[in-house]
Amino acid sequence: MTTPATTDALKSSRLAILGYGSQGRAHALNLHESGLDVIVGVRKGGPSWEKAQADGLRVAEPAEAVKQADLVAVLTPDMVQPALYHEAIAPYLKPNAALLFAHGFNVHFDQIQPRADIDVILVAPKGPGALVRREYEKGHGVPCLYAIHQDASGEARAKVLAYAAGIGGARAMLIETEFAEETETDLFGEQAVLCGGATELVLQGFETLVEAGYKPEVAYYECLHELKLIVDLLHEGGLAKMHQFVSETAQYGDLTRGPRVVNDETRSRMREVLAEIRDGRFAKEWVDEYKAGNGNYRAMKERDLAHPIEQVGATLRARMPWLAPAGG
Ligand code: NAD
Ligand code: MG
Ligand code: MG
Ligand code: MG
Ligand code: MG
Repeated sequence: MTTPATTDALKSSRLAILGYGSQGRAHALNLHESGLDVIVGVRKGGPSWEKAQADGLRVAEPAEAVKQADLVAVLTPDMVQPALYHEAIAPYLKPNAALLFAHGFNVHFDQIQPRADIDVILVAPKGPGALVRREYEKGHGVPCLYAIHQDASGEARAKVLAYAAGIGGARAMLIETEFAEETETDLFGEQAVLCGGATELVLQGFETLVEAGYKPEVAYYECLHELKLIVDLLHEGGLAKMHQFVSETAQYGDLTRGPRVVNDETRSRMREVLAEIRDGRFAKEWVDEYKAGNGNYRAMKERDLAHPIEQVGATLRARMPWLAPAGG
């Protein structure tokens, strides 16, 4: 699975990085320090413009950056990419240039139909931008998925591997995938397990204890705060490490009660969620919501943030100053 890769195929290319957020900043700085020719495409007057300049990078308006580029990495939020493609990329990108994504959503779900005369490739680091940057600075890298959707130049594979090497991914591991697999599994993971599944488990557990008369503070520690201890053990050493570090009583409770809480019913709901991802229903729903101004999205988020666990959590976290800031 590990593919040895170098930046050679992009040595005489100019790379335009559009967007200077979590991934954009990490990619641009890593590629620049890997000796590649980088220009950041951001809106003049926006906060990213100043930030990229302060980081020592060349900046230009997105369309200006695209005109000069042999490879364009689209690292803005997914929902703004279709308009950016139509306004700043499609009219200006050179034939045989490469268009690179860090998530396959727009290409896979036809929100962007790329020109036939360009390469369309994907490099998705398996970690947030801050980690992609930090590991690179330490001389390491974060494993990356990579994929080729369209190879107009005949060089798409060499380019995608060189880009992944330039951000440090090849120092760790490069795993080949397809746009469909990256997109569908990414959405499923965040919906069923990571964001959707985990927060729902926390809230239902918290509510169950509070409704049974236990103190919210105590319920908060048991159902939210301590989740990190377990996740860290899983992250570092899988099920084996978790079993090694929790009590026998916790293990026995896990083995006998866990499958009763998350059960066949849950599995069939997971299959439904996956089916809606695969047949495009989720993508359509989310794109329609975004285009309609995000009213439902905002209302649901406000309800989520008004949950009692948020009040008790804010009070308790204020007393635990060692808690690291999120997203670092
Ligand atoms: P982000 O929200 O951190 O950054 C977006 C940046 O895009 C902003 O900082 C700004 O510079 C620019 N931007 C915002 N609105 C814009 C507009 N209307 N027009 C032009 N530029 C605009 O985004 P991110 O989380 O880095 O995500 C970028 C891509 O990387 C997405 O495709 C995402 O799915 C993918 N990805 C993200 C992560 C992650 O951990 N965050 C991991 C893997 C892949
Ligand atoms: Mg993901
Ligand atoms: Mg995602
Ligand atoms: Mg939730
Ligand atoms: Mg306990």
